[in-house]
Amino acid sequence: MPADARRVDLHIHTTASDGLYAPAEIVRRAAEAGLAAIAITDHDTVAGLGEALDAGRRLGLEVLTGTELSAEFPNGTMHILGYGFDPRHPALLSALEQYRRFRDERNPQILAKLAELGMPIRYEAVRAKAGGESVGRPHIAQALVEAGHVTGVDEAFRLYLARGRPAYVNRRRASPEEAIRMIRAAGGAAVLAHAGQLKRTMQEVRRIVAGLATAGLDGIEVWHPDHSADDMRALAVLARQLGLAATGGTDYHGHVREDVRLGVGRGNLAVGYEAVEALRARLAARSG
Ligand code: MN
Ligand code: MN
Ligand code: MN
Repeated sequence: MPADARRVDLHIHTTASDGLYAPAEIVRRAAEAGLAAIAITDHDTVAGLGEALDAGRRLGLEVLTGTELSAEFPNGTMHILGYGFDPRHPALLSALEQYRRFRDERNPQILAKLAELGMPIRYEAVRAKAGGESVGRPHIAQALVEAGHVTGVDEAFRLYLARGRPAYVNRRRASPEEAIRMIRAAGGAAVLAHAGQLKRTMQEVRRIVAGLATAGLDGIEVWHPDHSADDMRALAVLARQLGLAATGGTDYHGHVREDVRLGVGRGNLAVGYEAVEALRARLAARSG
């Protein structure tokens, strides 16, 4: 039994982006699961944080502010997690607003391409699928299914919506360095999410992370359901070598992955409270 058996989950989505459960419901479930701390990390938004922080106070569960920013990265996905920032920071809020505007411009462009391909979809139908705040390709895919143009979401992506397919529209994103700067400017710690999704060799990941560290990166998400045991070992070593915080979470969306529960990833993935302490140490070192 480790000295500190407290468990945390620092990567969770709510209805403020593409999660199934409302922020307060997530906090309730996390408290019920016996977690010691959580962070809500919705995509490109802080909209769920107020509700989550209130619920945390009510239930006596430590809730860290969080967000997950999409950054520009060729042929792969780079997401930068932010933790412990001021959720009312004006520059952060306006940057997030800009992100959402880009996405709001992109969706109508995708629908225009689909209409040209003979599949007119109304934006209202897509918005209805999103329910929450950030409308995206998964919701367009669902609307295509509903309209009978494809048999499933996978097919919608494969035939039309994926990169390189006829209804794909490029997305404008912040550079990784900009994303890190935004988070730090708001007083937060910036963490590279799921390095496994970069789709690079571990040698390349090391080079990329070392570069981001000089740009102010505070940590690496070591524990994530997409990482193999080898990935996690290598990333933990990398974090130690570069003096970065090692964090982790389940990337819980409330559904989609049968093998992921709140606070418990695939293969009984568990994240210790040390991850929160490591983030706090980075934040304290900054302000000190
Ligand atoms: Mn998501
Ligand atoms: Mn992500
Ligand atoms: Mn995520």
